[in-house]
Amino acid sequence: MWTTPIPVAEYLPAPLLSPNISPPRKPGLYAAGLRRWVGEPKPHEGIMYVGITTKGEPSLLFRVSLLVLESIGFTGENLIPVKPKRARWVSYYHTGGAKIWRYCTDPQFPKRKPNDPFVQRDPHHEVFISWRPEDSGFCAACEEGRLYGLLKGEPQFLNDIKPPPCGRHP
Ligand SMILES: [Zn+2]
Repeated sequence: MWTTPIPVAEYLPAPLLSPNISPPRKPGLYAAGLRRWVGEPKPHEGIMYVGITTKGEPSLLFRVSLLVLESIGFTGENLIPVKPKRARWVSYYHTGGAKIWRYCTDPQFPKRKPNDPFVQRDPHHEVFISWRPEDSGFCAACEEGRLYGLLKGEPQFLNDIKPPPCGRHP
């Protein structure tokens, strides 16, 4: 089951105040969005980013903590143009979190789609996160690919790269 999305501001004190809402140290899939959604992430619910844990760090606690840190501004500096008409910025540890921060705070964020005008947002209160640990019936990599296909056209969806095939399932 996906957890109920919580705003970043509620997540931050969780390890101290309510450890039961911290992500587990288990592999899985996580999502960030602009609104509270119900159940699994679906189209038209403001989902901004989906990501999975890595082989090297198969811990939702680790990946979600990095996403949260960057999404509230512990992230790289100004845009650094590397090619004409393209710009890059420095992400420290989680490019998804860095993009969420830019999306919420930077009118010049280069990934913004023309039909999605800038509205300043406070990531502490206006970014919601949720996760689902892997279990025998739920493959995070397969589901990440499926969600990418469903969400890639939405203006607030910030994943740029199609996830590679799972490798464990056809
Ligand atoms: Zn799979």
